[in-house]
Amino acid sequence: MSFDSLGLCAELLGRIARQGYTEPTPIQAEAIPVIFAGCDLLAGAQTGTGKTAAFALPIVQMLSLKTQQHKRRRPRALVLVPTRELAAQVSGQLQNYGRTLSLRSTMIYGGVNIQAQIERLQRGVDMVVATPGRLLDHAERGTIDLSAIEFLVLDEADRMLDLGFIDEILRVAEYLPEPRQTLLFSATYSPSIKQLADELLDHPRRIEVARSNAAAEAVTQVAYPVERARKREVISHLIRNGNWQQVLVFTRTRYSADKLTAELRFDSIQAAAIHSNKSQSIRTRTLAEFKKGELRVLVATDVAARGLDIQRLPHVVNYEIPQVAEDYVHRIGRTGRAGENGRAISLVATGELPRLKAIEKLLGHAIPRETLGELPEIAIKRGMVQPARKKADSKPRSKKKVEQKVQPAAKPKQKKVQKSQKRRTLAQKTTAKARPPVKTGRRGARSK
Ligand code: AMP
Repeated sequence: MSFDSLGLCAELLGRIARQGYTEPTPIQAEAIPVIFAGCDLLAGAQTGTGKTAAFALPIVQMLSLKTQQHKRRRPRALVLVPTRELAAQVSGQLQNYGRTLSLRSTMIYGGVNIQAQIERLQRGVDMVVATPGRLLDHAERGTIDLSAIEFLVLDEADRMLDLGFIDEILRVAEYLPEPRQTLLFSATYSPSIKQLADELLDHPRRIEVARSNAAAEAVTQVAYPVERARKREVISHLIRNGNWQQVLVFTRTRYSADKLTAELRFDSIQAAAIHSNKSQSIRTRTLAEFKKGELRVLVATDVAARGLDIQRLPHVVNYEIPQVAEDYVHRIGRTGRAGENGRAISLVATGELPRLKAIEKLLGHAIPRETLGELPEIAIKRGMVQPARKKADSKPRSKKKVEQKVQPAAKPKQKKVQKSQKRRTLAQKTTAKARPPVKTGRRGARSK
């Protein structure tokens, strides 16, 4: 099948050709005619299938056919997404196609100053990509006019529900006019997705291009059984030994993302973390560096990595096995995107085996286990042995020598403690003289 047969206009076909897409992906081939026909859509499609263009292309074309009645442009298409990263990705595509047909779009998400968003909305836009919480904020303040919305897209709806956005989505829907065309995309189809669909969609057509348990076929999957304490050594070894230059590593928590990043840097591997505790500007910069190949390892939590679209990402590592089996499918969807080959490596500690079993059950097949040969003796414990650069460092040290090396580092700490104790005593003395006795209770406890 070719794009020509889908009813897309010449401007969009030209844009698609410039992107290098030669034929529609299955979700595009199936969804575009349904959207052009004006039907609501319930699509089972995971990330990496080309689902963004599947809704962006027909929406942009249909919007361009009708001129705005109002002097100032009002949003006519609204795309709700779970994360800021996905908002950026979807918005990028809408802008790309929209520009061709003189349409404007903007992004709305939390964690950044609201004023700039208000000003952009006031200047007038045709399409809005938003995370539900901040959008609701705008709707309640009256800083966005949603009364002209013709298209509502719920992208990665399953993840929005996982993140607890159900109330916000339903409250946003109350601001939207009827009739409208609603499209829901979800990688998985759970009872709560069904409920959401029942609530918001009208006799939807159902399309299923990749079942929830169908991991991207272009991805080679492998699991290495590894002791938990040695995972960091193993990942350093794999990256160095395999000369991997662009690796996305998943951890379960923000804490382990930061910890692993520090450890990789200690091993002289350039790494940075991306998670919800990082400011938006840092997240954007880190991602841009990673995409440009300036950063070798990006360590991410599931939420932050949602929606990341990195062309030809060759390696994804599950440093920790996800709690929810579906997250594995999302994670490995970051590699092998749109026909590229990729490799997904899982480091599995004994305690994580039940989680791996659950993933295999979801996939419907076993993930091949591989074992590593002898690992080189690299930094066994952080802070004790320097990375094996100098020859002398790689020789096994006697316990005595290691202890000798640690001691000087411990000394200044003791000094610090003594100093701070001195300061505290001084502060107590001063306080006793100058101020009334400190009250006990929460405030008093906190001030300590
Ligand atoms: P998505 O599922 O929307 O996140 O898209 C995944 C990736 O597939 C993106 O990098 C798109 O640029 C790419 N893509 C989308 N449609 C096509 C197509 N028809 N041919 C090749 N690549 C595509």
